Amino acid sequence: MFATAHNASNLKWHVVGRINDGLLRHPVDSPQWKTIDHLYPEFGVEPRNLRLGLASNGMNPFGSLSTSYSSWHVLLMIYNLPPWLCVKHKYMMLCIMITGPRQPGNDIDVYLTPLIEDLRNLWEEGVDVYDENVGQTFRLRAMIFCTVNDFPAYGNLRRHSVKGHHACPICEKNTSFIQLKHGKKTVYTRHRRFLKHYHLYQRLKKAFNGTHESEGASEPLAGHEVYDRVKDIVTVFGKTHRKDHADKNIWKKRSVFFDLPYWANLHVRHCLDVMHVEKSVCDSLIGILLNIKDKTKDGLKCHQNLVELGIRYQLHLQAQGRRMYLPPACYTMSTKEKKHFCHYLKNVKLPQGYSSNIKSLVSVNDLKLVGLKSHDCHVLMQLLLPVAVRGILPEKVRVAITCLCFFFNAICSKVIDLKQLDDLENQAAIILCELEMYFPPLFFDIMIHLIVHLVCEIRLCVSMFLCWMYLVECYMKVLKAYTKNQY
Ligand SMILES: [Zn+2]
Repeated sequence: MFATAHNASNLKWHVVGRINDGLLRHPVDSPQWKTIDHLYPEFGVEPRNLRLGLASNGMNPFGSLSTSYSSWHVLLMIYNLPPWLCVKHKYMMLCIMITGPRQPGNDIDVYLTPLIEDLRNLWEEGVDVYDENVGQTFRLRAMIFCTVNDFPAYGNLRRHSVKGHHACPICEKNTSFIQLKHGKKTVYTRHRRFLKHYHLYQRLKKAFNGTHESEGASEPLAGHEVYDRVKDIVTVFGKTHRKDHADKNIWKKRSVFFDLPYWANLHVRHCLDVMHVEKSVCDSLIGILLNIKDKTKDGLKCHQNLVELGIRYQLHLQAQGRRMYLPPACYTMSTKEKKHFCHYLKNVKLPQGYSSNIKSLVSVNDLKLVGLKSHDCHVLMQLLLPVAVRGILPEKVRVAITCLCFFFNAICSKVIDLKQLDDLENQAAIILCELEMYFPPLFFDIMIHLIVHLVCEIRLCVSMFLCWMYLVECYMKVLKAYTKNQY
């Protein structure tokens, strides 16, 4: 990169080319960037020192020939570049390819060790590089700025359990969960903790779980606190040992990233991926609104859980003669409303290339949406869903869904006003509380809960559009095309 004058000058864009107007456009505007400059001035003073984003994801290079094959790759993105170049394939570095057939899971640390050693050398000693732009040699150093992964891989890299009672990596031990008896699912509720003090909803009992909410939300753990928890855990690699060492500790082992001297000083070490959160929220919403079989979180078990928890008496099972009757909830759409919803999506006209053919995903006869991919969910949440629910559903439910869509639209924008972030964070908590009022407890899986933490990551670290998995998934499409002979 430094051998080309054009690329070498682009790597200094964050110092020479950027508009500094207080808006969040690039990681350089974030506190994490400034903290590094402050803690390591000898690193920060050289604008050409690289700050890298690390992303890893699994892919199947053989398409439908071998469905279970999963090879993993590790990519590095360069955050020194302007935002429109950070996301180009040309500037992404494929540094590790882990062959299958099974995904490495927690053993990914073994494969990452050589990379971490290189990065450690690049941080401590650096390498001499000739810069074509200025025509001299300088000492180049580099660091990992953050990592980007989907949620299961997030657990593998961070070494934190992302299942069970303490699944939220940010709330950690203070994750509020309910173990439902019917359906045996763990759900994550009590979002009133995240509201501002003395909010009206904190005093409402009946609409929520029957109690006042006075507890505040806990602060996320700092890097050195995480390190204190994991430093003494004995690490045993390999899949055969897994069962012997399955204990209740939510921290599985010491992450290999703690070998990097600066790692514990970063505000956000691992970023949540908004793409998977958005897809999961969209799937849950569409499933429950259209009451799609196998996807809906409504049904008999949901009502039994309401009886068990002693909330929302009007929705409890009612006996009508020899039959039991499930009363409709506020989010239940009538067949006419479902038809209205599906017809809107069937007839929607979008500019060419704006999204995939949404029309082909709608089955008007069965009143459901089939085969939604992550980008379809993105278009639905950003644009179509608020319009599709216009005039159907009770007003309060409709407003909550519309606000949720506007929230996703706001956090995915490329320029964010830092002054708006407090409002957005507040809004996320209010939306989740409203969803809690209207939707059943079974609706609140971990991905719904993660909405409340997204704004905090934008404020501290990086805009969502520079660290979402669309970049990585698109790169995988390029890699898959290299597999010409599938044998
Ligand atoms: Zn949480």
